[in-house]
Amino acid sequence: MTRVLLCINNAEDLLLTAAFLDEASVGAYVVESEGTYDRAKSAMTDGSYDIFMVDESFADGRGLTLLREVRLEGPRGPIILLTSRNAHDFEAMAIRDGAADVLLRKEITALSLERALRHALLRTSQHPTAVLNQDSPESVRKTVEGCLARLRRSPLGLALVNIHIEDSSGASVDSGVGQRAVRDRLQSCLREGDLLIPVRDNFLVLVEDAEPGPIAAQISHHVLDAMASPLSVRNKTVPMCTSIGICLFPEDGDEAEELLYNTSITVRDARASGRNKFQFRSTPMNDLAKRRRALALALDGAAERGEFTLHYQPQLDMTNGDLVGAEALIRWECEHLGRVSPGEFIPILESSEGINSVTHWVTDTAAQQARQWEDRGMPLVVSVNISARQFEEDDVEGMVNRALKAAGLSAKRLGIELTEGLLIRSTPEIRTCLTNLRNAGIKVSVDDFGTGYASLAYVKKFPMDTIKIDREFVCGLPVDTENAAICNSIVALAHSLGMSVVAEGVETEGEEEFLRSINCNTVQGFLRGRPMPPEQFEAWAKERERAATPVKKRHDSGRVKRA
Ligand code: C2E
Ligand code: MG
Ligand code: MG
Repeated sequence: MTRVLLCINNAEDLLLTAAFLDEASVGAYVVESEGTYDRAKSAMTDGSYDIFMVDESFADGRGLTLLREVRLEGPRGPIILLTSRNAHDFEAMAIRDGAADVLLRKEITALSLERALRHALLRTSQHPTAVLNQDSPESVRKTVEGCLARLRRSPLGLALVNIHIEDSSGASVDSGVGQRAVRDRLQSCLREGDLLIPVRDNFLVLVEDAEPGPIAAQISHHVLDAMASPLSVRNKTVPMCTSIGICLFPEDGDEAEELLYNTSITVRDARASGRNKFQFRSTPMNDLAKRRRALALALDGAAERGEFTLHYQPQLDMTNGDLVGAEALIRWECEHLGRVSPGEFIPILESSEGINSVTHWVTDTAAQQARQWEDRGMPLVVSVNISARQFEEDDVEGMVNRALKAAGLSAKRLGIELTEGLLIRSTPEIRTCLTNLRNAGIKVSVDDFGTGYASLAYVKKFPMDTIKIDREFVCGLPVDTENAAICNSIVALAHSLGMSVVAEGVETEGEEEFLRSINCNTVQGFLRGRPMPPEQFEAWAKERERAATPVKKRHDSGRVKRA
């Protein structure tokens, strides 16, 4: 008996869903419902249900919030989100936020519901990873087929990771002690929800993700590391060799049969080309995986080798052209790989704890720079970018306070930029941290606004000073009328909530002119100044000041003015 809790307020939808569940499998489900947010939340975390179906409109549209809040607590089973939005990126976001599946309300049938429930239960059991004991090729194919049927309706992809493990004589692990020991090691390398299927001599792992390739590569590295030490089988130590072949859906095949065939070819190639390695089916993925691996290795110790520097990009007041701030942007000059853009290496750092120490360095360095500029008559707010992971794992408040103290800088000269994703996923602790930082005088901005899913309603709930409109919405102003309408409403609403607005990535006079006409407060972009090393930034600012006010400058206190 599977215990299902329905969190659906609309009576008709509730009855229909319950009827579908009954039709799908009479008597297999015990279905109950919960109508209020708080009661649903406690029922979802007290361990009395196996699976949950939450309507996005539940409790005045707080279905997704419920999912996010419950994700941080436990214990719970998989959550299926019901929605009327037919948008792939919404679905991807809900999955990232912990939904096991997202179903479009109007497309639900008894069969699709049954299938979604079964798969969610299979994948996200309360164990870290689900292990299926099915070694007949037919049952494996059926499992993969079921997975593909679901993924075809979603923006997620799938990686099939085929793992072959053998001893030095080429014999595979036997089905007794050896296989169990290997299975335990493999399980420790997987994420919650990944499916491990022992298949004859091999193991198959199914990895669902928006970007399954990099995750499969990461899992493969862990597996190779985990299998590097010998197994202990019947009092003997047996060194093992591991070969891994990876295929991606939909790139390497659209059907289960084809994908399974391709993984077996790929694992055979990996074996033939030297063992203890993994290989993707497609060359571009192999190249990408190699590049990511090379970058991850090169990033290790890059800070200690002094390979990071900060560049600073000017931010100007739109009304009078005053230089008011600078964004600190990290640069990496790798000894072996040359210059690598932050867009490429920051996500790699963010996928490990590596980001935390780099952010400490960035904050310390930017604070010291701001202090130096202040001492030289150039009082600016210098902003640093802080990843969501840092807020989730580190003491950001402590980090900022220590940086200010070490530099002898006042809090009003430092800003932090965080992403919309953090607003959506934030916890009470993160909210407290942001409130404390703001109360201390630190400027808090939300970066790349409009690219995620945070609405101004989120921003309202948070302690924010500034919204940064992403370049995507600035591009082509004012000819691009949609972008013009978006910028217009962001500025109007931000102002009505007492926040200021920075436009990012302004490249043309036309864009700047339009933004000024709608009362956007600050401009940042190549038109006015690119990110520059600190000495160049200072020289640029001084030159600008000199050119702007040759006479007045003699009487000026040193504040930098517009060109
Ligand atoms: P971001 O914080 O949104 O930074 C703005 C990016 O837009 C910078 O790219 C900047 O060089 C670029 N940009 C500025 N003006 C223009 C323009 O007019 N046109 C165009 N096409 N681009 C413009 P950059 O330096 O490559 O940084 C990319 C991203 O990397 C940043 O986006 C930020 O998310 C991340 N990043 C950079 N430094 C750090 C850091 O120290 N810590 C963290 N966590 N992330 C960082
Ligand atoms: Mg930024
Ligand atoms: Mg930005």
